[in-house]
Amino acid sequence: MDGLTKEELAKLVAQMDAEELRIRAVAGTADSPVVAPTQREHLDDGEVADEKTVQRQGDAMLKHYRMQLADIEAARSRMRSGQYGVCIDCQQAIRFARLQAYPTATRCTACQNLHEHRHPRQAQETRRPASTDLSSPD
Ligand SMILES: [Zn+2]
Repeated sequence: MDGLTKEELAKLVAQMDAEELRIRAVAGTADSPVVAPTQREHLDDGEVADEKTVQRQGDAMLKHYRMQLADIEAARSRMRSGQYGVCIDCQQAIRFARLQAYPTATRCTACQNLHEHRHPRQAQETRRPASTDLSSPD
């Protein structure tokens, strides 16, 4: 592949490392429950209902974080195998500017747009600048 220089790749590696740290800081360790079991015993019915809502939202957030961490892990795996930065649909190099915005991107902009058009419900790439992600979870 001829899309990325070593310097560009190093920047993206650092960016993913920083993103992983930020996700882990917000999400905690993947195995820790959102609400500690000991806290649940003192809730009345109304609070239990509230807690279930919170639990559901927490589960959705954790799922989202885990997906992001899995994306980062997959991107690192592609780096090791030399597949990183290559569009999985058209096999063309993904532009560095796009990778800076989405270090875990697996498609070039054109193919991603096509993919989202064809599979709108499966489109998982969120539209946001990487630098503001997770800054305000609520
Ligand atoms: Zn493509």
